[in-house]
Amino acid sequence: MSRRKIPDDIKAQLAVLSNHRCEYCLSPEAFSTQAFEIDHILAMSLGGDTVLQNLAYCCRGCNSHKFNKFKALDELTGMVVPIFNPREQTWKEHFAWDADPLYVIGLTPCGRATIDALKLNRPKLIELRELLLDIHRHPPEL
Ligand SMILES: [Zn+2]
Repeated sequence: MSRRKIPDDIKAQLAVLSNHRCEYCLSPEAFSTQAFEIDHILAMSLGGDTVLQNLAYCCRGCNSHKFNKFKALDELTGMVVPIFNPREQTWKEHFAWDADPLYVIGLTPCGRATIDALKLNRPKLIELRELLLDIHRHPPEL
């Protein structure tokens, strides 16, 4: 078995835990054209293990922007802080939908740094949120 292979039972657990949404941008898997991926919260290259507590369910876009990062800069405070950890933190404590719910806003240094690092307001996500809003599937319940 390759070191990269994530056991199917862990994938299934993460899909349920995440409610089949990306744990960073909250986009629904059902409306993604690409299979969701499993992110190592602390990358394997940095010593992160393939265990549930170190894994997150996420869309390909968030996963590729995150890459092996686990800290990022919060420009407002100038602090480098850990990126949001969906296994240890709650999304709504760090993020909220703007008055215009197409945009995620950061409530904390961690939230703001994660939005910047993972580009949680990238154009393709805005387009998807517009479509989901039209069919009353956005914003998701938190
Ligand atoms: Zn995402």
